[in-house]
Amino acid sequence: MPTLVEAVSLLAAVVATATGLLVLRGRRTSALALPLAVMMFGASLWAAARALLPVAAGSVPTTVVLHHLVLPGAAAVSAATFWYFVVLSGRRVSRRGAALLLVHPALLVVVLAVDAWTGLLLRVRVEDGVVRVGAGPLYWVHLAYCYALVAAGIVLALGAMVRTVPRHRRVYLVSALAATIPVVGNVLTTLVATRGQGVHLTPVFFLVSAAIWWWVERFARHSAVVPVTTRQVLEALDDAVVVLDPDGHVLDANRSARTLLGGPDGTGLGSSGRAWQDHLALDLSDPGGSTLTTAEGTALDVRATPMTDAAGRAAGTVVVLRDVTELERLRAELEEQASRDGLTGLHNRRSLAQRLTTAVEQSAGTGAPLSMVLLDLDHFKTVNDTHGHAVGDRVLREVAALLAAATGPGEIAARLGGEEFVLLLPGVDVVDATRRAERLRTRCARLAVPAGDVTLTLTLSAGVAAHAAGGTPDDLLRAADDAMYAAKAAGRDRVTAAPDGARAGRVPTPRGPVDASRPAPA
Ligand code: GH3
Ligand code: MG
Ligand code: MG
Repeated sequence: MPTLVEAVSLLAAVVATATGLLVLRGRRTSALALPLAVMMFGASLWAAARALLPVAAGSVPTTVVLHHLVLPGAAAVSAATFWYFVVLSGRRVSRRGAALLLVHPALLVVVLAVDAWTGLLLRVRVEDGVVRVGAGPLYWVHLAYCYALVAAGIVLALGAMVRTVPRHRRVYLVSALAATIPVVGNVLTTLVATRGQGVHLTPVFFLVSAAIWWWVERFARHSAVVPVTTRQVLEALDDAVVVLDPDGHVLDANRSARTLLGGPDGTGLGSSGRAWQDHLALDLSDPGGSTLTTAEGTALDVRATPMTDAAGRAAGTVVVLRDVTELERLRAELEEQASRDGLTGLHNRRSLAQRLTTAVEQSAGTGAPLSMVLLDLDHFKTVNDTHGHAVGDRVLREVAALLAAATGPGEIAARLGGEEFVLLLPGVDVVDATRRAERLRTRCARLAVPAGDVTLTLTLSAGVAAHAAGGTPDDLLRAADDAMYAAKAAGRDRVTAAPDGARAGRVPTPRGPVDASRPAPA
């Protein structure tokens, strides 16, 4: 009758062979299938040889052969364990690599065939018809090599565990732990076996590990499709990520950083590790975000995050740089659009309010003169009423073009709303401003706008005012407005300058101040 150990071993051998064949069928879809199958077959051989030993106790030659079959079985299992971990940790095993791994079990078969004479691996003695097997010198080499392979496999799994993303870590840990089951089991059963008789469950333990590894294989298939390591994530980022040590030297830079920041050798960011920083003139003492522009005109959003070690000491900085050139261009474009009048392209009322405030502040600060011309087309309603709104629009655009052409650097032409326009003239006094307004009036009178069969002519009335010390932007606008109304009252098609002290004793008009919060009239 076989003992429980033998029965378990024999059953394990049968199950392992069957499972090995099953696993082998998946070799086209999983790189782990082949090493797992080799492991199953090796364990099967190993377990079967062990289990049959007592059965064959009567026959010396059979016993010797069985003892000899254990070794290639164990060698195949160790080689397959290493092979499995190489694949699991994301590396490829070539045909040559696999063949090299299987040299050990194959060599054992050859050596064992002649070992009866050499006794290098196993020393077989027959005492009173009982076969006694001792270890030869090569046996220990074989054993050490087997352990080394399993240990190297575990190291590979732990290395992969450290590199991978947190959610994948568990799988490597489970695989590595599974490898320790037969190692511990082997040590224990060897200790027991040296005292008693052949209680060797190691191949069975290997089958337990293999079962766990087969479960892991399901994950591995998935991770082969999406192989994620922190390194890969960093490399895939469009943002440039640079890791600096506390002295500001580059410790690591991802692909985008290498492309963006280059360096003399195109990859290394300079041997000093500082080239990129000189290139950008970054101020890392200011953590958080800032935008800077490189010499090539690339706008970069820079975010520096200081790192500390477990003891709270400065450990370096992670700098993330994002190319925001296009974003900056769009922002500037939007800002420009928001400050323009849709019909004429002149500054709108909101933009005028902002620039008027700035101009008044500057004039107050420098004492330089600041003038404003407010222009209103005469009887413009008649143009609309007679020729239609489209013609009215065309007239407004023609007048706007006149104004735009008449403004110099630092001067502003704006459409206040409707058919009212403003020229803001920093550094120009009221006399020169009046002269400029007069010139505009004559040019406007000379305009000939085609409207169907007829050609339109038009006139404008303008009021000119200068900023008086202590006055507000609204004061200036009101003074210009009052002067414009005076021009209207005096018969239109003329320019009127605000009288000195217009602000004092001025009759309030019902017209509101320029106010960015108020919508401009249509
Ligand atoms: P006054 O000489 O007193 O300035 O007479 P006016 O007709 O020019 O002045 P009023 O304020 O009575 O009319 C302004 C007209 O401007 C009324 C409105 O239809 C027209 N208008 C305002 N905005 C636009 C616009 O964007 N396009 C066109 N075509 N007309 C506009
Ligand atoms: Mg008007
Ligand atoms: Mg008008």
